[in-house]
Formats: sequence, C-alpha cells, structure tokens
Amino acid sequence: PYGRVWNFSAGPSVLPVSVLEEVQRDLLNYGGTGMSVMEMSHRSKDYDKIITGAEATLRRVLDIPSNYSVLFMQGGGTGEFAAAYLNLFASKAVREKQRQLGRPLSCDYLVTGTWSKGGMKEVRRLGGHPRVVFDGVGEASYTGVPPVNEWRLGKPEETAFVYYCDNETVHGVELPPDAVVDAVDPSVPVICDMSSNMLSRPINIGRFGAIIAGAQKNMGPAGVTLVIVRRDLLERDDDSSDAVRNLPSVLDWSYFDSTGSMPHTPPTFTIYVCGLVFKWAEEQGIRELERRREARAKLVYDEIDAHPEFFRGRVDRAYRSRMNLVFNLPTPELEAQFLAEAARRNMVQLKGHRSLGGIRVSLYNAMPQEGAETIVAFMREFYANNR
Ligand code: PMP
Repeated sequence: PYGRVWNFSAGPSVLPVSVLEEVQRDLLNYGGTGMSVMEMSHRSKDYDKIITGAEATLRRVLDIPSNYSVLFMQGGGTGEFAAAYLNLFASKAVREKQRQLGRPLSCDYLVTGTWSKGGMKEVRRLGGHPRVVFDGVGEASYTGVPPVNEWRLGKPEETAFVYYCDNETVHGVELPPDAVVDAVDPSVPVICDMSSNMLSRPINIGRFGAIIAGAQKNMGPAGVTLVIVRRDLLERDDDSSDAVRNLPSVLDWSYFDSTGSMPHTPPTFTIYVCGLVFKWAEEQGIRELERRREARAKLVYDEIDAHPEFFRGRVDRAYRSRMNLVFNLPTPELEAQFLAEAARRNMVQLKGHRSLGGIRVSLYNAMPQEGAETIVAFMREFYANNR
C-alpha cells in the first residue's frame, strides 16, 4: 500500500509503517485534544505524558538501570561529540582525578571510521588533546579493529574517558557487544556512539559511562539525540569553573537532567514519534529485533561471500556491520548500473557514502526480512548477468 519503496537509506531511514499510520491518524487531533502534537505546548499536561511515556518505554525496552539518566537533546550526534567531552571534563569525577594527577587528563579515542574520527576531531577543535588508541586497520581504511593487545589505551589514572563508535555507518564496521568495555579498566567511563545500531540488540548499559545516539536511524525522525548517562557523571564540584562556564546550556547534560530534558523547547514532534517507535520496539522485543537483524544481514552477507570477487566486501568478518552493509563491485560503471537497475525495481538509497563510493545496504529495524530477500534476489540476478 501507499506506493512505498524498499528504502535502504543509511539515515534518516525507513520507519515502521504502523508507526507512520498512527502518526497520520492522530495528525490533526491527537487523543481528543483537538490539536496536533506539533501544535501543543511542551509545558502542557498532554505533552508531559508523551515525553515521560517515551522515556519510560525506552527504559523498559533497553532495561536501563535507575542510576542512569535518559536525556532528549538536540544537535545530533555531532552535538554530542562536543557534549561528551565538555560534560566529562566539567564533571566532579574527572576534575577530582585531574587534581590528584596534578595535570590535565587525556581522553582515549578508538578510531574505527568516519564517525569516531569526527568525535575525536571535535575534541581537538575545542582545544582538547585526545589520545589515539588506534586509527583504523588496513592502512587506515577502516576495515576492522586491531587486536586488543595492540590498543594503546592510556593509564586509567591519566584517562578521563574512553570513546568509541559501536557501529560506523559509513565504513560498515560494528564492534561485538562489550568488546570495548571488556578491554577498559572499570574505573574509566566508556562513552559510546550508538547512533546507527541503537535498539537493534540488548546493551549492558550498566557497563557504560554514557551512550549517545541520534534518533534518525532506528529510533525515529531526525531532530532529537538520545543520551543515556550514569548519574554520578552529572555531578559537578564547581559551577564557576571554566569547564562549566564554557559549556553551553543546550549541551549541558546536568541541566537537561535537572529539567526533564526541557531547559528549552524540545523537538516535540520528533520525541512523540520516537515514543511510538519505542512502543513498537517493545511489542517486538529487543531479543527479537536482534534475531531479525542477524537474519537480514546474514542473507546479504551470504550472497556477498558466495561471489567475493564480484561483491567485494570491505570489512573483516568479525566486525561486519549488521546495519550498514558496504561493498564494491568490480568497476564504478557496474556500481552505477547496479544502482540504476535497483531503483527501477523500487530499491532505493543504496549508494555508498560520498567519501567511499560503492554500495551500502542499510538494514535497520523497520526493514522487513522481505526487503533483504528482495535485494538478495536482485544481487543474484545482477551477478548472473554481469559476472
Ligand atoms: N554518529 C554516527 C554513527 C552517525 O551515523 C552519524 C550520522 N549519520 C553521526 C554520528 C552524526 O550525526 P548527526 O548528523 O545527527 O550529527
């Protein structure tokens, strides 16, 4: 129905049809209020139910411990690159550790692709001095992760936090669950960007310092960024410190925490749609979403592995993303032809990121198994006709 396509966009990306239908149904008159959620004051009782309900549902879906705060912020993943650094260095925990050391702490960055590199660059831009734990493998082309014994992690007493990206949306590198928290001293908070694989598998939240994630893949439309942060990291010892004074309100995790994510007008409609997606995710169950993501990705990777000289996967098997599957074809001409023929069959947004080229098949939560089957059938046929 609706003339919809198979949408393989890396983000903003496909959403569950049942959610879109509910949005459509309630668009002009939400729950008998006589207005759209878009037209509602964020300070109204009705809206309060929407935002607190969204948080409560997400807490159930991901089993978020009560000593973690859930924040809805703006500024995207990019805003949180800065926020993570600024908030940690303004925290009581980091400042006390810094006083004990007698000099500034460093922060450790695992660079597995575009987005973790982006996080690190933002710290440099703000005058920080991130330590590079490693920067890619395979001549920095980000095809995987080096063995843990080659990671150059700083000493725990010298390190404010360790940062990494769980799933690199551009390069298609995804870390196994807990790979990083297992390798890091438990006294050092791990900050993780889960923008593109959030809600696709269970997370041991209690092992993280903070998790940041833009909504526009598995959670909803663009415009809101989720932060899940351990509450002790929100404590401050000195509100007049430079670290706090250089922290804009819109990036201040503590300020968002103490105001129920409303120190200013939140992206009300986006949060509402995210709440519906969370409800949908709860109905499916996080284990089932994980099972489905594995099944969808396996179909496509099996096809890639059947003809590796034609479908040239670029990532080491152990780190292949289940969300963003990237590969090249033997020539750029064949890639262009692949995209054009796919589009004629209603399979769209398959073009690799502009920095890499090639093909990127994004298989987010809302992509049915049938979508993966459809593209695999097309890949088979394309191989047979062009090998
Ligand atoms: N992190 C990851 C993993 C991403 O995929 C993206 C964007 N797709 C970002 C961060 C940046 O997010 P934004 O565009 O919302 O700033």
